[in-house]
Amino acid sequence: MKVYLDNNATTRIAPEVLDAMLPFLSERYGNPSSFHSFGSDLMEDIEKARGRVAELIGADAEEVYFTSGGTESDNTALAGAMEINPLKPGLVTSRIEHPAVLEMAKYMAERGYPVTFAEVSREGLLDLESLRDSTNEKTGLVSIMMANNETGVIMPVKEAAHIAHEAGALFHTDAVQATGKIPLDVKAMGIDMLSLSAHKFHGPKGVGVLYIRKGVEISPFLRGGHQEKGMRASTYNVPGIAGLGKAAELARGFITEENLQTRLLLERLEKGILEKCPGAIIAGIGADRLPNTATVLFKGVESEAVITLLDLEGICVSSGSACSSGDETPSYVLAAMGVNPIDANTAVRFSLSRYTTGREVDLLLEILPPIVEKLRKISPYA
Ligand code: PLP
Repeated sequence: MKVYLDNNATTRIAPEVLDAMLPFLSERYGNPSSFHSFGSDLMEDIEKARGRVAELIGADAEEVYFTSGGTESDNTALAGAMEINPLKPGLVTSRIEHPAVLEMAKYMAERGYPVTFAEVSREGLLDLESLRDSTNEKTGLVSIMMANNETGVIMPVKEAAHIAHEAGALFHTDAVQATGKIPLDVKAMGIDMLSLSAHKFHGPKGVGVLYIRKGVEISPFLRGGHQEKGMRASTYNVPGIAGLGKAAELARGFITEENLQTRLLLERLEKGILEKCPGAIIAGIGADRLPNTATVLFKGVESEAVITLLDLEGICVSSGSACSSGDETPSYVLAAMGVNPIDANTAVRFSLSRYTTGREVDLLLEILPPIVEKLRKISPYA
C-alpha cells in the first residue's frame, strides 16, 4: 500500500470524475466543433463544465477559457497581456512564483520588457510595500500567486490586486495550488485573470482554465481554429474538460469540509513531527497557509535521503523545491525567505488531500522520526 502525501505535485482522480470522463473516451468521441449533432451535441457538455468552473471561482461562464493546464494558463496570461499593451510594458511578479510564471517573466525580460520581482517576508508572505515600490505607471501586469506550492502560504491577493489597479495595471493570479482548497471569488478579490489546473484538485492532468474578466483584452496564445472565441485554438479535450467540470463541482461541495478535516490532519502531522523530531522547523509557520501543505526543515539532514528512505517504506513525499526531481539546486522559495542553502536542502514537503486518512498520518509519524534520527547521526552538518 502506498501512502501518498505529495498532493501538491498531483492528486488522484476522484471516482466521480473518472465516471464523468469515460463516455467521452468511448462512445461519445465526436468533435464539438462539427456541424453534425454527433459532434456538436458535445458542446452542451463543454458548457456544463464551463459553468461548473465559473461557479467554483465566482466568475461568469463566458469568462472561463479552457487550456492544457496551469503552465499554459500562466504563460498565456503573461505573454498575452504584455504583448497587447506596448505603452505599459512593465511586468511585476514575486520571487516565489512557480516556474510557469518565473521562466516566462525571465523570457520576457530577455526580450526587453522591464520585469521586477517583489520580495517576500521570512514567513514567505508577499511584501506589499515591495510590491508597491515595484509598480509604476509603466506597469502593465502584476502577477502574484494565490498560494505557494512549496510552503502553502496564502498571499494577500486582494491587496496586491488593489496595488496593481492603483498603477493602472492588470492583475493575474496563479491559483493552481489554491483552487479547491480555499474559497475563491474573482470578483470580490478584484482579479482580472486567474490560472487553475484540474490535476491539483482530483481532476485529470493536461487540462486547466484561464479566467479572463469580461472587458480585459489579451492576445491569443494558440492560433488556428475558432475554439474558445478564437482565444485558444485546438480541438476540445472533451474528456479532460468534462473531468475538470466534475472536479470543480465536487471541490465546491468539499471546500468547507476539506478545510476542517484536512487542516486537522495537517495539524496532527505537524504536531507529531515537532514532538518526535527535535529541531524540525515548519516553513512559513505563523502565516496563513493552505489546509493541506507543510514544508518541514529537518536541520542537518538532507531531504533527498529522507525522501528516498520514506519511499522504500511506501510513503511518497517530495523535497521543498521543484516538482521536477533531479533538480538539486536548493529551493529558491526558501532562499527568498532568507533560509540558507544548507538548511534549504533539508526541506521535505508533505501535502495532503481529501483522501488522506488519520491512519496514514500516524504511519508517517511512526516511520519518519527514526529515519531522521538515523540520518542525523551520520550527517556532517548536524
Ligand atoms: N502553478 C503552480 C503554483 C503549480 O504548483 C503548478 C504545478 O505544480 C503549475 C503552476 C503548473 O501547472 P500544470 O502542471 O497544470 O502545468
